[in-house]
Amino acid sequence: MGYFLEGERMDNIKSIEQIGKKARGRAERIKHLRGERVTQREAILGHCYDCMGGYTDGARDCEIETCSLYPFHPYRKSVTGHIAGIDSNLPAGVAQTV
Ligand code: SF4
Repeated sequence: MGYFLEGERMDNIKSIEQIGKKARGRAERIKHLRGERVTQREAILGHCYDCMGGYTDGARDCEIETCSLYPFHPYRKSVTGHIAGIDSNLPAGVAQTV
């Protein structure tokens, strides 16, 4: 791992520890940045944490239903209709399987 990348990872960890909220995905994001192995679920939680800027506005639903990770977003409110405007075309029951 290059020096620059290592420094960038450390800067990211410090930033999370200083301003990132204690929310789902925080530990997983840090774990990834430390170079530790993460599961797919942990990777998603960590990615959403990063995407939400460390939830500095509070742990909330991103409401980006078109994101392919949205069905796994930890604060998702919407259980059905995960892709707005498309679910009405799906066979009955498909939306509930997500
Ligand atoms: S589900 Fe939301 S928070 Fe997670 S990666 Fe997609 S847009 Fe970002």
